[in-house]
Amino acid sequence: MIFMTGPFTGTLVPCSGKLAISTKSPASGTILDCSIGGHFAGELKYAGYDAVIVEGKAKEPVYLWIENDRVEIRSADEVWGKGTHETEFSLKNSHGLDVKVLAIGPAGENMVSMACISSELYRQAGRGGVGAVMGSKNLKAIVVRGTGGVAVANHKELCTKAKEFLKNDALTDDNLWAYTDGTPMIVELSHSSGILPTRNFQQGTFAEFKNISADAVKGVRKDKKGCLSCGLGCGNYVEVGQITVEGPEYETLAIGGSNCGISDLEAIVEFNKICDDLGLDTISVGNTIAFAMEMTEKGIKDFNLRFGDVEEYLRVTEEISNNQSDLALGVKALAEKYGGNDFAMQVKGLEFPGYEPRGAWGMGLAYATSDRGACHMRAWPVADEAYGDMDPFTIAGKAEMVIGLQHYNAAKFSTILCDFWALSLETAAELLTLTTGKQYTAQDLEVIGERIVNLARLFNAREGFAAKDDKLPRRIYNEALKTGATAGKRLPEVEFNRMLREYYQLRGWDNTGKPIADKINQLGI
Ligand code: SF4
Repeated sequence: MIFMTGPFTGTLVPCSGKLAISTKSPASGTILDCSIGGHFAGELKYAGYDAVIVEGKAKEPVYLWIENDRVEIRSADEVWGKGTHETEFSLKNSHGLDVKVLAIGPAGENMVSMACISSELYRQAGRGGVGAVMGSKNLKAIVVRGTGGVAVANHKELCTKAKEFLKNDALTDDNLWAYTDGTPMIVELSHSSGILPTRNFQQGTFAEFKNISADAVKGVRKDKKGCLSCGLGCGNYVEVGQITVEGPEYETLAIGGSNCGISDLEAIVEFNKICDDLGLDTISVGNTIAFAMEMTEKGIKDFNLRFGDVEEYLRVTEEISNNQSDLALGVKALAEKYGGNDFAMQVKGLEFPGYEPRGAWGMGLAYATSDRGACHMRAWPVADEAYGDMDPFTIAGKAEMVIGLQHYNAAKFSTILCDFWALSLETAAELLTLTTGKQYTAQDLEVIGERIVNLARLFNAREGFAAKDDKLPRRIYNEALKTGATAGKRLPEVEFNRMLREYYQLRGWDNTGKPIADKINQLGI
């Protein structure tokens, strides 16, 4: 399990405060990487480390304490069994308020496949079960204090360029939404485009969307927060009743809100806080609850959950984190056990994020071909399809677009920059050159992106994944949506398969979805 900083971490380069965590996913069995914001990555770099690699398993629960050159494995007896919030407070009590902490909650300890890793209470490495991998190693937390600096190749020029790009490229009118609204602004966009997941993806619009919109979130907002070296500061601190939380983000509002038929913002904020404390990914948990709600509604299996039922929705999360409910299995395994496979909204075992692919056909291809299962971070074509000018209901040009986006994201995220600065690869190359002293061009980064996608594909092929796994739930192929801008729309399987074949062809992969020898050689893998 690898905890990795990037070449820009700890510098003034905008949006460079993230940490990447790589491992093999217990949810999907694929390669997995997740990123987490906050200030942990910078602190690790200031302690003198580019990465921490954890191998094997401790005999007893432990945490890792890193203070510059001093590295100790200590007993986690006092915090084992505790939520991420109490764990972080307790470890800061022992080591000082200035330390930075990564921790898992009960869900990670119990190796629930939707367990995440938390930092600063509300920042999460959410997807694919990274928290369960920490739990499997009996590793409760990593605590770090770093008091050193960061050496870069061209310090003066990097500072000048970082400030210039922050002002002219990151803090532009196009990006200001991150500060003014944050991701909740996507709720209204998705509703009006007919791609807001509602009642386990049965609809793409939600009549009560206003209750969970950016305006509703701003109505209870108390403060803003950003990660290290970020000028955008997308985090919203909200307070509803007795509950304070940094969030909820769009994914939680959509998957934990409309997708569960919940329009009560206070309930979603509480769901957010409970999941963060238990160490659970709100996307996977929200989907699993929504799936169980539909199973109950259809009479296939009674999980005592109903769309819009706030009480049970909040209660069941604790059972999931303790492995006391079947829901801890996640959507794929739950469908294998009880049925409902046609409307089990997952790919390769990872549950859908908050974008309905029947209203953005390229998004369907992106979910199907993403290396870690249904994921919106590998490619996000909805920006052009559902929210932009591109026809969302055609396969024309989508394979090429998804490939381009996958390469761009793979290259950008390999530098461990935040998604929300849409910098060009030219800009990334210029900053990399100043930081590392090695000459990079945008073209180099495109090749790096393609190498990453192919290498991940080979990893997954070794684990038994092939074309048979690049598919969507049958609901997407067969059931037409009924309301809003996507009324009457589905993504016919025959069209999807044509798009997938074109994608393989353009990539230089064979019919089973495996990179051919020429492609592997060309990329020098
Ligand atoms: S835009 Fe948001 S998530 Fe990204 S680095 Fe800034 S505060 Fe963190």
